Amino acid sequence: MNAKSKRILVVGGVAGGATCAARSRRLDESAEIVVFDRGPFVSFANCGLPYHVGDVIPKEKSLLVATPELFRDRFRIEVRTRNEVTAIDRKAQEIEVRELTSGRVYRERYDALVLAPGAAPMKPPLPGLDLPGVFTLRTIPDSRLIRDWISSRNARRVVVVGAGFIGLEMVENFVHRGLEVSVIELADQVLPPLDPEIARTVADWLTTKGVSLRLGEGLAAIETDASGTLRVRTNKGTELRADLVLLGLGVRPETKLALDAGLEIGQRGGIRVDDAMRTSDARIWAIGDAVEVRDLVTKQWTVIPLAGPANRQGRIAADSIAGREARFRGVQGTAVCGILGLTAAITGASEKSLVRAGVTTFEKVYLHPGHHAGYYPGAKPLHMKLLFSTPDGRILGAQAVGEEGIDKRIDVIAMAIQKGGTVHDLEEAELCYAPQYGSAKDPVNLLGMVAANALRGDAPLARWEDVDETEAFVLDVRQPDEFAEGHVPAATNVPLPELRRRLDELPRDREIWAYCRVGQRSYYATRLLQQKGFRVRNLTGGYQSFLARRPAGAPTTACHGGARRG
Ligand code: FAD
Repeated sequence: MNAKSKRILVVGGVAGGATCAARSRRLDESAEIVVFDRGPFVSFANCGLPYHVGDVIPKEKSLLVATPELFRDRFRIEVRTRNEVTAIDRKAQEIEVRELTSGRVYRERYDALVLAPGAAPMKPPLPGLDLPGVFTLRTIPDSRLIRDWISSRNARRVVVVGAGFIGLEMVENFVHRGLEVSVIELADQVLPPLDPEIARTVADWLTTKGVSLRLGEGLAAIETDASGTLRVRTNKGTELRADLVLLGLGVRPETKLALDAGLEIGQRGGIRVDDAMRTSDARIWAIGDAVEVRDLVTKQWTVIPLAGPANRQGRIAADSIAGREARFRGVQGTAVCGILGLTAAITGASEKSLVRAGVTTFEKVYLHPGHHAGYYPGAKPLHMKLLFSTPDGRILGAQAVGEEGIDKRIDVIAMAIQKGGTVHDLEEAELCYAPQYGSAKDPVNLLGMVAANALRGDAPLARWEDVDETEAFVLDVRQPDEFAEGHVPAATNVPLPELRRRLDELPRDREIWAYCRVGQRSYYATRLLQQKGFRVRNLTGGYQSFLARRPAGAPTTACHGGARRG
């Protein structure tokens, strides 16, 4: 080895670590690069694990994106699997490693050390979480254990604890395998990163697919009886029987190595890094699920365990080690989840997270368009929410749920957020269109237009959560048959086609809040009334958004009006 070549050691060889090692080679042909992983594999597709359990990806080896041999032959990178890094000696610039197969302990010197140890599944100190049949899912061996348990025990009933992204992906895959699935979730909604009225569609969908949901109930204990059946008890006294329990309670950054070495740990429990992914020690970088980074929107420190940021951070750390200028922009939590044919996605801040961060100058828009032109067969409804700051219109976040076309809308908005875009950019965005893919006015354009109309004062918005308290005159502009099916208690019905000749029935001394099914006809009403001198607002998202705010479990049939009615 060249005496001057740089020694780059990487702890953890999956998303962040493998990316960093491979890019380091592309940037420095002379470096000596060694990757350590305590597991039996490197560079495996952890995101594919739920689908391996569900048999959608039947072969385990399909999950192996790269092998140690590939790293050796293609990149001249040495990979040492089943080697756990147990300590960092910062003074000597050495790590201590335990070879797990032999127990041998040895030391290695580094010029640059990269920590990419990921995050561990949370296991609260509750009784029974270590019983046979209770699993978490992080690695290929975990997925093997779950698959073996299902087939060897002929498992039929599963309880999934936690309705986050991984929990719901596992629900989908257990259902796919024909298992009977119950879900316990402490929050009173599924997918806690989303706002509750958007997540509501997902909860209703799961229920119609036969999944039993227990929202607002926490796990209290797991016991087992003589027959080996697991009994899952909740804090509300419910007892569920199961052949298998999957814990999807979130993850916590793996910080032990960093902590023991005296590296700075942030207030959210992740390794603190600068925007070049460098830790408080100039020779040590950290990336991926183990680190704490800035939220792009709220500017607060956060831990967001996602593969995209881990990969990008791996590249940035490699650039920084090679002496290049590279800066991580921060995370915005762009995430997507497939749930039995439904897709839910989010980017940027939710309303909850804005409130938590103390942001008060924001507005929101709800929209329920078809995923493509209504005249082309097969349009599926999208349920969307856009959050933007006032008065400048900067986009803060978006969420969407639907059967088709969700990911592309959220991805477009994700890019707009990253570039500091405003609702006016969404109005003007030129997106691809043919009738089977979208609309000439794409839902993304529509979100921008509704938001921009509000900012310009052309169609001010009212919020459904204020409707019970308002002094305003609540005007329902739907057809009488729709009104008869269900309406807001205080509402007066004047259908849009009759509005021009019935203006004298409307008050001039009070504000008017107009609504229809989804907000389109009430927008027309708002424009009409405003030009006739009334003070008027449009209740965003229409009656459909009103219904989405009711407690989970309430019937939703009344929210589906005629397909061509706005
Ligand atoms: P990891 O990929 O977890 O790699 C860390 C590695 O470090 C592990 O192999 C571990 O064994 C090793 N290690 C830890 N400590 C040591 C040590 N002391 N010595 C040696 N080795 C060590 N994200 C998405 O964006 N989309 C998805 O659809 C998605 N689905 C997921 C599904 C599942 C089931 C899981 C578990 C995660 C999913 N994620 C998803 C999250 C994504 O996989 C992680 O954000 C990403 O892998 C983090 O990369 P990382 O490099 O930080 O850590």
